[in-house]
Amino acid sequence: MKPHLVKIKALKRITHDVLHIITDKPAKFSYVPGQAVELSINKPGWQTDRRSFYFISIPETSDLEFCIKTYPEHNGVTNEMLKLIVGDELIVYEEFGDISYRGEGLFIAEGVGIAPFLSIFRNLNSRHLIGDNQLIYANKIKADIILETELTNILDGNYTNILLEEQNAAYAHGPITENVLKHFLTGKPQYVYVSGSAKMITSVEKILLALHVSKDFIVKETSEVRRPVVFPYYQQFCTIIPILNTQSYDKL
Ligand SMILES: Cc1cc2nc3c(=O)[nH]c(=O)nc-3n(C[C@H](O)[C@H](O)[C@H](O)COP(=O)(O)OP(=O)(O)OC[C@H]3O[C@@H](n4cnc5c(N)ncnc54)[C@H](O)[C@@H]3O)c2cc1C
Repeated sequence: MKPHLVKIKALKRITHDVLHIITDKPAKFSYVPGQAVELSINKPGWQTDRRSFYFISIPETSDLEFCIKTYPEHNGVTNEMLKLIVGDELIVYEEFGDISYRGEGLFIAEGVGIAPFLSIFRNLNSRHLIGDNQLIYANKIKADIILETELTNILDGNYTNILLEEQNAAYAHGPITENVLKHFLTGKPQYVYVSGSAKMITSVEKILLALHVSKDFIVKETSEVRRPVVFPYYQQFCTIIPILNTQSYDKL
């Protein structure tokens, strides 16, 4: 599929380090809630720097929506996104991803790992099918929680925040342990969806397997970008690949 140019319709910070970006949607563009897409910025010097982001919108709407955690210290694409304004353009590539809704269950998200679940929850909610789905949402501190009000409205009592670093009487505290998961697992076959850092996913999956959750019922994907550990030519490698892939953006 050829890349599409989309215009930014709205853009604001929704936490101290997360941007909420709404763009128009290309004609005939489709995706499944839970999928991601590669984006780049349509500005000189940035068009070939692609980064992956989940859609938080649902396919039926005429917009595309993303929540994007920014890393100014990386001096990369997300830092450049902090400079974007309404009317600027992004380049949207092909959708991809392993997370999709398979049936009722327990959703476990960490930080910006909530993104694919937002699209899934919004989609279920729009069809009155949210049912008994449960969410455990882990963050370091309360200020990191993304779209808490919307999640509360959609999931009602089936939404638990857990804070790793901040003590707050209104929220659970600590890591996601076996005891936490035991509390939420029903004992009957149920899907468990896990999204966050590779470290969190590994730890949660280990506990789930020990608690006899079948591997077939665990749906997981990390939004962590893996990089080669030692590869002195990595920087050059990164700049060569996009040049080989360069497409003619003025034809979009
Ligand atoms: C399937 C998938 C879906 C995703 N969905 C989302 C989403 O919905 N929302 C979201 O916020 N994120 C998401 N991510 C993560 C997102 O893609 C990354 O956060 C993004 O690529 C970061 O881009 P960047 O250019 O700002 O920084 P990077 O690409 O991480 O880094 C840019 C440069 O900085 C350097 N660098 C790397 N780490 C450091 C460091 N610790 N300190 C200093 N320099 C460093 C690197 O050498 C690199 O060249 C997803 C990732 C995947 C794989």
